[in-house]
Amino acid sequence: MKRTQRMSASDPASIRFAADIIRAGGLVAFPTETVYGLGCDALNPDAVARVFEAKQRPSFDPLIVHITDRAMLEAVVKSVSPTASRLMDAFWPGPLTLVLSKRAHIPDLVTAGLPTVAVRMPAHPMAQALIREAGVPIAAPSANPFGYVSPTCAQHVMDGLGGRVDVILDGGPCLLGVESTIVSMTGTWPELLRPGSVTLSEIRNVIGPATYTLATQKIAVPGQLPRHYATRTPMTILAAPGSRPVVHDHERAGLLAMSQPNHRDDQLCAMEILSASGDLREAARHLFAALRRLDEQGLDRIYAEPCAEVGIGLAIMDRLRRCAMPSN
Ligand code: AMP
Ligand code: MG
Repeated sequence: MKRTQRMSASDPASIRFAADIIRAGGLVAFPTETVYGLGCDALNPDAVARVFEAKQRPSFDPLIVHITDRAMLEAVVKSVSPTASRLMDAFWPGPLTLVLSKRAHIPDLVTAGLPTVAVRMPAHPMAQALIREAGVPIAAPSANPFGYVSPTCAQHVMDGLGGRVDVILDGGPCLLGVESTIVSMTGTWPELLRPGSVTLSEIRNVIGPATYTLATQKIAVPGQLPRHYATRTPMTILAAPGSRPVVHDHERAGLLAMSQPNHRDDQLCAMEILSASGDLREAARHLFAALRRLDEQGLDRIYAEPCAEVGIGLAIMDRLRRCAMPSN
């Protein structure tokens, strides 16, 4: 067990301390605008191995490399196409991850042996400060045990990885709450690998409507597992927005509602309302914390209300479907 130090991410001295830990091969959990990341020096294979160990993440699941500027980008990837460059201009810094050809010195463990690497420039000022101060690209998956619901505040990281990381930089709750959108730029067409905070229509506005395919049905890399982001409590997604759950006798049921339900349900033991007004951005921001709270209630089943798969709703439904996938 490590002694995990929890520090304020807004204190420059904590950032310097955490950056020293990164350079020395240690593990630092830090806030980003999407979820908390578990960071290490992306160029140090031993440090990367420690991330996999701390998360108990299978080595076939590649990591995202976080950078702060174009110079760092050039040290990580071989080349940037004009289309990729347009996406970077439009969405960086921000919640868009691009998959590009990697340079040879990026360790195989970071990319799960793939010739490509996923890169992102986060918008969170404290994440940027950490990367800049460390002076190296930071490889960081979400800071949670593999497969569980992603962390959106420092306490979530402490709950899941306390004793396994050196430092947790506490920057308060994450603004967006779902992971970055991942787009592969290595094929003939840009391809959406994971829906996220940047929406498909925002991307299409920048690179054109026809240049895009949606790879939701196939597993493009081994990391895109059908069951992921999952609560321990089994989940059923309801048929439509506003549907009432059919709760079985003696079942301890909880409801994850997208907006204020218009039915009263005395059979429910717990309910989380993601956005009283039905605002999907707000729902995304609250999703993971709400799932964690429901998961702590000792319920037999969580019933989740679906939302329309438009805008950020595509990312919300992607996460709910993976959560609801039965474990075998
Ligand atoms: P996480 O940081 O936990 O949200 O997971 C990062 C995800 O990025 C992985 O699970 C993959 O789905 C994706 N990813 C990372 N590197 C690559 C790559 N080289 N090619 C395609 N997808 C990738
Ligand atoms: Mg993750």
